[in-house]
Amino acid sequence: MAHLRFKALEELSKRSAVKVEEPAEPISSYFGVNSFDLEKMKRTLAPDTFKRVKDAIENGKKIDVDTADAIAAAVKTWAMDKGVTHYTHWFQPLTGSTAEKHDSFFDAFAGLERLKGEALIRQEPDASSFPNGGIRSTFEARGYTAWDPSSPIFIFGNTLCIPTVFVSYTSESLDYKAPLLKAIEAVDKASTRVCRYFDRNVNHVTASLGCEQEYFVIDKGLYYSRPDLVMSGRTLFGHAPARGQQLDDHYFGTIAPRVLDYMKDFEIEALKLGIPVSTRHNEVAPSQYEVAPLFEEVNKASDHNKLLQDLMDKVAERHDLKVLFHEKPFANLNGTGKHNNWSLITDQGVNLLQPSSSARENLQFLTFFVNTIKAVHEHADLLRASTASAGNDHRLGANEAPPAIISAFIGQQLTAVLDELENNGNVEVEKGDNMYMKLGIDKIPEILLDNTDRNRTSPFAFTGNKFEYRAVGGDANCAGPMAVLNVIVAEQLQQFADEVDAAIEGGKEKRLAIVDVLRRYIKESKAIRFEGDGYSDEWVVEAEKRGLPNIKTTPEALEAYISDKAVALFGKHHVLSERELHARVEILQENYINKIQIESRVMGDLAANHIIPTVVQYQNKLIQNAQGLKDLGIDNSEIVSTIEKINKHLSNLKVAITNMTNARKEVNQIEDATEKAKAYCFGIKEKYFEEIRYAVDKLELYVDNEDWPLTKYRELLFLR
Ligand code: ADP
Ligand code: MG
Repeated sequence: MAHLRFKALEELSKRSAVKVEEPAEPISSYFGVNSFDLEKMKRTLAPDTFKRVKDAIENGKKIDVDTADAIAAAVKTWAMDKGVTHYTHWFQPLTGSTAEKHDSFFDAFAGLERLKGEALIRQEPDASSFPNGGIRSTFEARGYTAWDPSSPIFIFGNTLCIPTVFVSYTSESLDYKAPLLKAIEAVDKASTRVCRYFDRNVNHVTASLGCEQEYFVIDKGLYYSRPDLVMSGRTLFGHAPARGQQLDDHYFGTIAPRVLDYMKDFEIEALKLGIPVSTRHNEVAPSQYEVAPLFEEVNKASDHNKLLQDLMDKVAERHDLKVLFHEKPFANLNGTGKHNNWSLITDQGVNLLQPSSSARENLQFLTFFVNTIKAVHEHADLLRASTASAGNDHRLGANEAPPAIISAFIGQQLTAVLDELENNGNVEVEKGDNMYMKLGIDKIPEILLDNTDRNRTSPFAFTGNKFEYRAVGGDANCAGPMAVLNVIVAEQLQQFADEVDAAIEGGKEKRLAIVDVLRRYIKESKAIRFEGDGYSDEWVVEAEKRGLPNIKTTPEALEAYISDKAVALFGKHHVLSERELHARVEILQENYINKIQIESRVMGDLAANHIIPTVVQYQNKLIQNAQGLKDLGIDNSEIVSTIEKINKHLSNLKVAITNMTNARKEVNQIEDATEKAKAYCFGIKEKYFEEIRYAVDKLELYVDNEDWPLTKYRELLFLR
């Protein structure tokens, strides 16, 4: 093992940057060349066909076979011109990664290359290997994938990829995309209804997402020298380096040349795919970075984020690098998140979360702003569940923030606006009065000029013209949390509209009716608003007083999905049925169990086969030395004391490993997934991981550097 470590280090010393030249042409000349977007459809399809596909994209109309055939033929021609020979349905099963099954365009019977409309629209992947939470086994139905025309078809490598949803034969969702599409529809409907209080011309509202993606990049050879990274995505052992992130120098520093070339490379590829990447910079921890595209419609943005991850993974190969998206690859360093910037935008081009200089539009802004906060207040547990995973448990509520407590940050000025609105309850508005002024909502434009206060510790923060949901894990599929956010806001807006309509019918002036309901919502959702330090211990105490949930582990968090409230909510908006929710929770629990089980096994293997033998060898050297000194009559008490310390950690380690292995055997007998997930959480992970790691990390400090088998943190993180 130490052999592998030193070989990797030696290879690293020979590596140099793989030069990437940015194209001389402007980005606009190659942006989206590998994506069959609307513009290309317009260019290649008959006007009639184009109209039909546009209708499908914009209004969810079904596509008939003839139209599908025409589109398929055009896509095939476009792809073959680019040297593409195969196509695949690209989908997002609940395993968390993306999946595809490749088929050739070549039809041996027909003796030519072709793509039929049928094949575009629907396929049967060999789905037996994808998790289905018992749905398929009960009904013995296989799953199929179905084209999602609202997300552009693209070319990845030599393959034409068709974005699809993945459902069982009984039409149950087995992926992340299908519920998102339904939630998008729900929020469109509810938002449009509310928008019409202000603008009769609004016919559609689109949810938008701009996803800031954090990641680590390390040398590929060093990565492969760490079995824990390879097997579980994170380092299970490793003593903190003498220098961590305390200097903050990485954040402001220049980007290492190898990494910079890598970034340029994947950005060019991303742009060709139509992913609008726009910013790159260092993050807080050494070797940590961030990439952010411009925001897009949420379904497209969510696909683009997953595609970007796949792309970054692939391009890293060319640079002998490895990209890590795990939420906590290195203990004691900043973890990896995915900040989901979200807002609602009308087909009139108005961002509903953008304060405006017109008082009328500001009432609209406040309507959507307050309703979003209220939705988060009512369904904080669901938002939390939507970001729950074994990896993310290391961030939320563990060693770093954002905390597991969901709260919303809105900044000083908007707090003042809401306070004023709340306290101005009894204002009498008379004919000829400036109602907006009386209510104190004419002052909002000032915020446009001075929206500087930011709170990095809040999981759900308003940042000027959008909310930023920061609890999402680095390796998560955005579609999970985005489906939840959009459906809870849809539900809230629908309730709001029902209440306002009732008041108007009761004879109330529309604006007053709106303000009345908002005022009540502001009061009712006050507990979710928090402007202070979300990392502090005081907040934990305060949040408990306010009755806010603080759910620290995945098995507990997932339960929110199957509460009566959640079942009613998802059912009402046709996003997920009760059966689908149960299946989903079971799958996510199984994912969790597998992850912890793998980590536990890798820990055991590494300790038994690499760490313990190395330490014993080293200890023997010390024993010989101690004996030699003693024979010469020289004081050896210091060495003896070191041997004793090593021995203490060594025996602690052995005992803990044995106990953990035995505990695992018992836990594996449990049938029920919920119970088993909890047993893995509390009976394995929380009970043993810390203790085992502590012993190994201590031993790392004793054993001769030359003998230590695992590549060290300082080598993983600081060598380039
Ligand atoms: P930060 O200061 O947090 O880096 P930026 O202004 O750079 O914020 O934006 C971060 C992300 O938010 C980008 O992906 C950006 O496109 C996205 N964003 C901006 N406006 C919106 C919006 N209205 N809806 C969704 N995302 C948005
Ligand atoms: Mg941000």
